[in-house]
Amino acid sequence: MAATSNAKPKRKMKDDDSDGLPKKKPTQYWNQGLLSSIDDPELRVDADDKVVIIRDKYPKAKFHFLAMPKVNIPNLKSLKREHLVLLKHMETKGKEIAQRFDSRRQFRFGYHAVPSMSHLHMHIISQDFDSPSLKTKKHWNSFTTEYFHDSEDIINMLEKNGRVELDTKKYQELLKNPLKCHVCLKDLPNMPNLKQHIKSHDYSSKK
Ligand code: AMP
Repeated sequence: MAATSNAKPKRKMKDDDSDGLPKKKPTQYWNQGLLSSIDDPELRVDADDKVVIIRDKYPKAKFHFLAMPKVNIPNLKSLKREHLVLLKHMETKGKEIAQRFDSRRQFRFGYHAVPSMSHLHMHIISQDFDSPSLKTKKHWNSFTTEYFHDSEDIINMLEKNGRVELDTKKYQELLKNPLKCHVCLKDLPNMPNLKQHIKSHDYSSKK
């Protein structure tokens, strides 16, 4: 007898612009999680007609948010010149949020070269990296090496070339870099040492 499978057929996310937001479907993949969180009132900190800003569910710093466009843009590769106004708006909103939550603290606003989650998202992250969810070398290097692209650089790239093309392989190698303090560049042997060391820097005010 032929074996039967209970596995549900894979279904793709569908664009649906009835309210501007991509709709989630019953069968979800883990990398589609942001599309659920975008509607979660517990996570949402701000929204307007173009952008939603949510708390990162696994924050890697004391303040860590994600700004997402309401229109369906899967990733950096999907960006076109016509999105420049939107990207600039996302950055402006990000700066407003940073100002609102802690106007004295240093923040960065940007994108991972190779994001793990689908749907374009700009990180708004304070530079203290003070969070229990920051655990691995991969986490650290994704926010402190060139793997993290400032919004400004992405905007410049799009303005200049009309697209954003990043060499995935090259960026993935950066995640294996030795651990280094992002402030004083001291080499640290492991994550517990690094986390202990970065406490010695003062993040309470902008330098
Ligand atoms: P990346 O795709 O590498 O740019 O980062 C994805 C970010 O999304 C990470 O900082 C995660 O902590 C965060 N994250 C993962 N799942 C969720 C979720 N369901 N809701 C909100 N944030 C999430």
